[in-house]
Amino acid sequence: MSTLRFHAIKNSLSYKPLIFEEKIRRSDLFGENVFNENSMRQYLTKDAFEGVVNAVQHGKKIDRSIADQVASSMRDWALSKGVTHYTHWFQPLTGSTAEKHDAFFETIGDGVAIEKFGGGQLVQQEPDASSFPNGGIRNTFEARGYTAWDPTSPAFIYDTTLCIPTIFVAYTGEALDYKTPLLRALHAVDGAATAVCKYFDKNVKKVTSSLGWEQEYFLVDKMLAASRPDIALTGRTLLGHSSAKGQQLDDHYFGSIPNRALNFMKELENECMLLGIPVKTRHNEVAPNQFELAPIYEEANLAVDHNSLLMDIMGRVASRHNFKVLLHEKPFAGVNGSGKHNNWSLSTDTGINLLAPGKTPMSNLQFLTFFINTIKAVHDNEALLRASIASASNDHRLGANEAPPAIISVFIGEQLTKVLEELEGVTKGKLSPQEKTDLKLNVVGKIPDVLLDNTDRNRTSSFAFTGNKFEFRAVGAIANCGNPMTILNTIVAKQLSDFKVEVDALIAKKDLKKDEAVFNVIREYIKSSRNILFEGNGYGELWEIEAKKRGLSNNKSTPEALKARVSDKSIALFEEMKVMSRVESEARYEIEVEAYILHIQIESRVLGDIARNHIVPTAVKYQNILIENVKGLKEIFEKDYKSVSKEQLSLIAEISNHLEGINSNVTKMIDQRRLANSIEDLGEKANAYCNKVKPLFEDIRYHCDKLELLVDDELWPLTKYRELLFTR
Ligand code: ADP
Ligand code: MG
Repeated sequence: MSTLRFHAIKNSLSYKPLIFEEKIRRSDLFGENVFNENSMRQYLTKDAFEGVVNAVQHGKKIDRSIADQVASSMRDWALSKGVTHYTHWFQPLTGSTAEKHDAFFETIGDGVAIEKFGGGQLVQQEPDASSFPNGGIRNTFEARGYTAWDPTSPAFIYDTTLCIPTIFVAYTGEALDYKTPLLRALHAVDGAATAVCKYFDKNVKKVTSSLGWEQEYFLVDKMLAASRPDIALTGRTLLGHSSAKGQQLDDHYFGSIPNRALNFMKELENECMLLGIPVKTRHNEVAPNQFELAPIYEEANLAVDHNSLLMDIMGRVASRHNFKVLLHEKPFAGVNGSGKHNNWSLSTDTGINLLAPGKTPMSNLQFLTFFINTIKAVHDNEALLRASIASASNDHRLGANEAPPAIISVFIGEQLTKVLEELEGVTKGKLSPQEKTDLKLNVVGKIPDVLLDNTDRNRTSSFAFTGNKFEFRAVGAIANCGNPMTILNTIVAKQLSDFKVEVDALIAKKDLKKDEAVFNVIREYIKSSRNILFEGNGYGELWEIEAKKRGLSNNKSTPEALKARVSDKSIALFEEMKVMSRVESEARYEIEVEAYILHIQIESRVLGDIARNHIVPTAVKYQNILIENVKGLKEIFEKDYKSVSKEQLSLIAEISNHLEGINSNVTKMIDQRRLANSIEDLGEKANAYCNKVKPLFEDIRYHCDKLELLVDDELWPLTKYRELLFTR
């Protein structure tokens, strides 16, 4: 009997769920472990408090004496909560978060020790960072990078460590993390959007980008997951025959949450409350053992930090409930994968959501301005937006008949489509008083009612307008939202600044009124970006054909998609918006291509190992049993043995067939890997992994999965899909 699998199953069946009791009201817990406004008021002097607030709200620099004060107050607050260590907490381009803990504890001679934390330690640190991905920015002999405090994201306590969110940059200033370009992009969109807002309201001084992510994930019993080398090393199953019952009955979606999962969720949410992550929604997702968690949206930088932190603590809490969390986009073939919808909007410091229709024609014109500029930004940069979510694991969703397709399109609903059609007919140049009135009353003025019945939700669109926000649905479940949020905010910033230039030019040259100029420019935008709008079924082949005619890209693989990151246009865009220099863009491209190669390489090795070291020996063992059986039958039935052992003989042959299929394909795969490894050019190498190595996965898997159906269940070493997906 294959011991690990059965041992794991036995264990998981006898597991008694850990009951998590919520004893304190959530609103009382919220932010308890965050050095937020509340605790700052309590611990900081007035000067220091104002210094931090000014930094957060107006980007003012914090001077050293204030930093010293903040640091010692932070320390006092942390010590009062039993904290012993501090760390700069950052998000290097590995995709996970990084921390290196230092104790507050210091000796001051004569055997005396104190708890110390000064401004210097708060503001900047130099982690020995030579082993983080840097895309060639730092050679190892110049391996200096530093982390610097980001006061816009509050420090928090996890376990007994004070975590200080920081950026991570090379000594020469280039970004080495997700946060740095994100902060620059948020600054760019603030500047551009605030300038446009001033057409409508002079009082607007700041525009903030918001993000509400919806995190999908799978929960698998920890022991069962550990029994599968593919899950342990790659986060997904590389083989495994589908379970007889999967998601066909649609009986999991929004169903009652299984007890163990529910207790995990309660404890996770409790941790989130302490950390100030405003989680609100939880439910079962479509696939068995798949779930979703969503917070109330927040300022984008904070939301990105919170999502990264969440992904980290999910793993730790899950472990306490004997679960492993799978954030991979496609852990199981044949059932739905996991994404992370990024709900995005812009709002002003005067409290207006710029992507929500308003109450007056003028505020609706403002809404339309931002709405149409966003559509135009997506239209002009669709390939770049696709690149922002490209990864080896997300390739299993995008363009692989999984939601959504690899083609970026914008869904706006029937009614807004009509509004845009009407706006396309606006007269060029000056508008007659009659036309203006008509527009304001009948087109722009009608929008609020219209949106209320805009309930149509096309789930196949990668970028959908959902009433008061856009929903970028193609983001992968395991992705750091910083990447797509940087790119989305950058392209919108660029679009809004172009818009401002065009409107100002019309006002100056053609003597148009502000609203006339706005109508004139958005009319042209609607025409020039019509191609990105799509309301139909995004999964069908028809859409692929149509999208091609429209000139939209359909980059199904990461190596193809990533090229848009380093096109002349993208590099110029990032430079102009001061989000990334050419060196930074190129470095990021290199890091992402390399990550792709490494992921496929690891998967390929793991699959080769499992196929040869687990599946082949098991099948041979079973085949030998059959051979023994045939030999026995031959002894008994002598020359008639063939008719009584017909089934066995054909099984023996069938097994040999599959064994041959596995071995020849694994050999082919190893040869292709060797060829790919000899390629110098990174892009070419990634292509080879994508087009020559990866396709063999399917062939190898095919034979393994067939064997799974033939071989005696008691011998089969790998935990099966039905066990992974239905153990609760
Ligand atoms: P769905 O039907 O797609 O699940 P919800 O209305 O439940 O959508 O919202 C999903 C996410 O969108 C939540 O995180 C929510 O906070 C966020 N959200 C709602 N309004 C906005 C907004 N104006 N800007 C950004 N995110 C928003
Ligand atoms: Mg959603």
